[in-house]
Amino acid sequence: MDEQFEYSEKVMEHFRNPRNVGEIKDADGIGRVGNPVCGDLMEIQIKVENNILKDVKFKTFGCGSAIATSSMITEMAIGKTLEEALKITRGDVADELGGLPPIKMHCSNLAADALHAAIQDYMAKKEEKAKVEAEKYDYDVIIVGGGPGGLSTSILCGYRGLKTAIFEASNWGGVLSWLCPTKMIENFPGLCEKTTCQDLIDIWLNDAKRLKVDLRKERVNEITRDRKVITDSGEYRGGIIVLATGTTPSQAGVKGEEKFSKNDKGVYYFVTNPQKFAGKRVLIVGGGNSAVDAALSLAETADIITIAHRHDELRAVPHKMEHLKTLDKVKILYNTELLEIAGAEQVEKAVMRNVKEDEEFQMAVDAVILAVGLTPNTEIFKKLGIELTENGYIKTDKSQKTSIDGIYAVGDVASEVQFTVVAIAHGLIVAHNAYTQLRKPYWR
Ligand SMILES: Cc1cc2nc3c(=O)[nH]c(=O)nc-3n(C[C@H](O)[C@H](O)[C@H](O)COP(=O)(O)OP(=O)(O)OC[C@H]3O[C@@H](n4cnc5c(N)ncnc54)[C@H](O)[C@@H]3O)c2cc1C
Repeated sequence: MDEQFEYSEKVMEHFRNPRNVGEIKDADGIGRVGNPVCGDLMEIQIKVENNILKDVKFKTFGCGSAIATSSMITEMAIGKTLEEALKITRGDVADELGGLPPIKMHCSNLAADALHAAIQDYMAKKEEKAKVEAEKYDYDVIIVGGGPGGLSTSILCGYRGLKTAIFEASNWGGVLSWLCPTKMIENFPGLCEKTTCQDLIDIWLNDAKRLKVDLRKERVNEITRDRKVITDSGEYRGGIIVLATGTTPSQAGVKGEEKFSKNDKGVYYFVTNPQKFAGKRVLIVGGGNSAVDAALSLAETADIITIAHRHDELRAVPHKMEHLKTLDKVKILYNTELLEIAGAEQVEKAVMRNVKEDEEFQMAVDAVILAVGLTPNTEIFKKLGIELTENGYIKTDKSQKTSIDGIYAVGDVASEVQFTVVAIAHGLIVAHNAYTQLRKPYWR
């Protein structure tokens, strides 16, 4: 026979016993191609699971070569990822068949084209399905809490084209804006000592607006399992909900605390305005960075500063401790706990106890700062039944997913390592997951 028309053994074998002929019930993608010159028609159907071709079948009307190339490409494609399958070329098909007569090479082209068309059909349908799904929601992503965690999540979702809303009950920027707007940001590589907390928040807010994030100044009262967010003014449904409610300064739970902690009567949880303490005798309770920060920020204004700590060592970072040692007006009472805050209208004295000696004593003070830690804001999730850690933080996996489907958590409410960059990193992980979950790109 003329070499130009000679088929290899493998071609003949596939022609006589074609593999994977037929149709797939509920095929995920269908590719149809034809060659008008020779009249060959080829259809390939695919079933995809987790981005892998689980099944590939064909129906071909054509010559022996068209049957053999179709049969071969199904064998080559099954078990491959979509990306790998898209890389199969006509040459690969011909090579696997031990070569094709030059005049029949177009058949291998047809097989590769039909497979690629089926994959493209699958991707288009998947995108369409994701769009239809998305239309069922008011927003792709709803974020509860407008601190660093929530704001950065909103920016990163907006950047990915996700329709995003963020709800904030009080101050945009969370604790940084509420407690220390003029402080230079720390622990933020590249920006330390270069920007204040409020400047950073303003940059985030501008970015969120530019990316068309819907910034809503509303307190969220409840979240339901079917991803509804309920506020005083309405109900909003999200494809994904992100909890970013942060923390609130913990109460010390001592006698007199409640009486003096409202309306500027002398009990505070942070120093927001050092001028308020000008000429005063201030007692700071606590032993971590917050307590030492409070002392340092009052160095220029307060008259006497006393830090009382239950243990025999402070836990602040070394450079702050060094700075503290240079301040003569700061006195540290180790092994000392606060028992009571007392006074008529304003704070006048503190009742203390040395825990080692078991001795009580009193101190005349004008203000008490209770820097005793932070409590995660999880109150509104009680009804939702979300799983918490033993310390009361929202439990998440490494994708920031909570125990409830479609609900994620970021920032301080979900982490005992409480820094801005941690909250931002959480936001990026969530934005990436939200995009892949909602848009279902072909590579997922
Ligand atoms: C005094 C102080 C100084 C700090 N300095 C630094 C620093 O220099 N560098 C650094 O990296 N980290 C610093 N931190 C830590 C940093 O502030 C936190 O890690 C960061 O704020 C966490 O962001 P977040 O969004 O998780 O929480 P938060 O900042 O607490 O924000 C949570 C937001 O959620 C809102 N919210 C709560 N409940 C609801 C509700 N039901 N509906 C709507 N909104 C709600 C709150 O109003 C709040 O605005 C500091 C912390 C403090 C307290």
